[in-house]
Amino acid sequence: MPEESKAKVQCVQCQRSEYEVPLIVLHFRGRQMWICAQCLPILIHNPNRLATKFPHGNEVMTGPLA
Ligand SMILES: [Zn+2]
Repeated sequence: MPEESKAKVQCVQCQRSEYEVPLIVLHFRGRQMWICAQCLPILIHNPNRLATKFPHGNEVMTGPLA
């Protein structure tokens, strides 16, 4: 299986896992990621702050976030 399918379920902002906080799934540019309720307001009010967290093009999300 490709590495991508084993992406850790964790908040894209604070990196906490689904075992620590409830995570909300996001779909962006064909990829799936998660964000916790505490970081959700950042996404709503300051999406630019999270823009760098989102993978672009062919980047694999497990790269810079790992
Ligand atoms: Zn978070």
